[in-house]
Amino acid sequence: MPCYIFVTGGVLSSLGKGVASASIASLLEEQGLKINIQKLDPYLNVDPGTMSPYQHGEVYVTEDGAETDLDLGHYERFTNRFTSKKNNVTAGRVYYNVIQREREGGYLGATVQVIPHITDEIKRLIREVEEDCDVVIVEIGGTVGDIEGLPFLEAVRQLSMELGREKVLFVHTTYVPYVKSAGELKTKPTQHSVKELRAIGIQPDIILCRSEIDIPESIKEKIALFTNVKKSAVISAPDVEFIYEVPLLFKRQGLDRLITQHFGFEYKERESRWESIVQTLKSSEREVKIALVGKYVSLKDSYKSVVEALIHGGIANGVRVKVLWTNAEDYQEELLDEADGILVPGGFGERGIEGKLKALNYGRLSKKPTFGICLGMQLMCVEFARNVLGLIDANSTEFNPFTPHPVIDIMEEQKNIKELGGTMRLGSYPCKLVEGTKARQIYQKDLIYERHRHRYEFNNKYRELFERHGMVFSGLSPDGKLVEIVELKDHPWYIGCQFHPEFKSKPHSPHPLFVSFIFSCL
Ligand code: GLN
Repeated sequence: MPCYIFVTGGVLSSLGKGVASASIASLLEEQGLKINIQKLDPYLNVDPGTMSPYQHGEVYVTEDGAETDLDLGHYERFTNRFTSKKNNVTAGRVYYNVIQREREGGYLGATVQVIPHITDEIKRLIREVEEDCDVVIVEIGGTVGDIEGLPFLEAVRQLSMELGREKVLFVHTTYVPYVKSAGELKTKPTQHSVKELRAIGIQPDIILCRSEIDIPESIKEKIALFTNVKKSAVISAPDVEFIYEVPLLFKRQGLDRLITQHFGFEYKERESRWESIVQTLKSSEREVKIALVGKYVSLKDSYKSVVEALIHGGIANGVRVKVLWTNAEDYQEELLDEADGILVPGGFGERGIEGKLKALNYGRLSKKPTFGICLGMQLMCVEFARNVLGLIDANSTEFNPFTPHPVIDIMEEQKNIKELGGTMRLGSYPCKLVEGTKARQIYQKDLIYERHRHRYEFNNKYRELFERHGMVFSGLSPDGKLVEIVELKDHPWYIGCQFHPEFKSKPHSPHPLFVSFIFSCL
């Protein structure tokens, strides 16, 4: 049976609990421990797949095709772990399971209640990821005090009793505001949120203090006193320039030692693999500017993995990446003039399409490196059809079901789907790369696996026509039926992929397409 670390949040949301949890996981991996990491989300959606990125940021897709919370992206980027559908559990999923069982007669005779039925189901789902692990880190979404979060906190409280307190650590992430007018850091919100946590029977063992500035010893002492935690377990987590500094920040304060010792594992003194990453990020002087032309640019979290993958591509090339956020609904060519490269990411729905098409047209004609991902690739094909092949009304049937030239069309098996949740082409699929193409050269492999999330595909009726005019289909499904990668023959770097390469990029193993894209921008 593994040890468990439960990470809760207090005072505010958006404190970076996901990055904190991922950083802890990474430090434990560096200690040679086998970890797994799970996110519990208190909302009632069964998964975040149907939520707007404006509400919840990007939807992260796992190998097995689960549409999950973006924190799973942090988990994969910070650790060697692949996550799966079991790594993200929502309240919606928990209730769905319980209600389904009730309808099947699984609780005959019983009154089905939050305690014990919902809490039992939460505990069961938590314990589904523990196989072959030394430590499981469980991050509980939301903020202590939220009504929705209560069953989750109650479940982990029960679990800590069942497993034994020495097998469990509670980490509470709080916010310590710096009040400028008083020139002081304030601990009161932290005191209150810990009080709230204790009222439901959870005494935290470690307090992670998020703050604008470093927390001095005197404030740590005060927090320790009021929250009944050892001073060495009050950890300062000030804002950082790069999220990959967070594990180092924790390590310097002895967090990894504290955790390993609590669980009785041997602590090994060794240099963190994040040193070299942060070193590269901080010492790179050259900057590459990428215009990211999207619809959800007002909430940067909507493109979390894309931005991280660009940064990884930068690390591999020893340069910093600056993203020029370009709103597709308000197309501004000046931003593209300033950019070294253009990226059109995935998306759904008609808004912003014309702006994205203009940006792709600009990229094709200016010969600036241009990268299309999923919807971005589909629009590369629409732009090519309209402006090279002269099919002026060409479109995707997602935006015009009656277009005379449906160069992007809905997949046959998608036509009769009525339920929208979890029914796209999702997760990892193989793709064969064609000899002699840029894609083949970039990957240095014949067969790759990449993650998908879409309903529409390139319409094969148009393949020959496109090819005759200089579009190359450089990646195809092994049966040859689905177009996975397109590129232009007479352009230095104009590549579109139907899948989402950003989900598989990590700082220590940057994705080849992003490495090559940034290199070409240089
Ligand atoms: N809307 C497009 C489709 O469903 C593209 C989806 C995406 O970019 N993830 O096929």
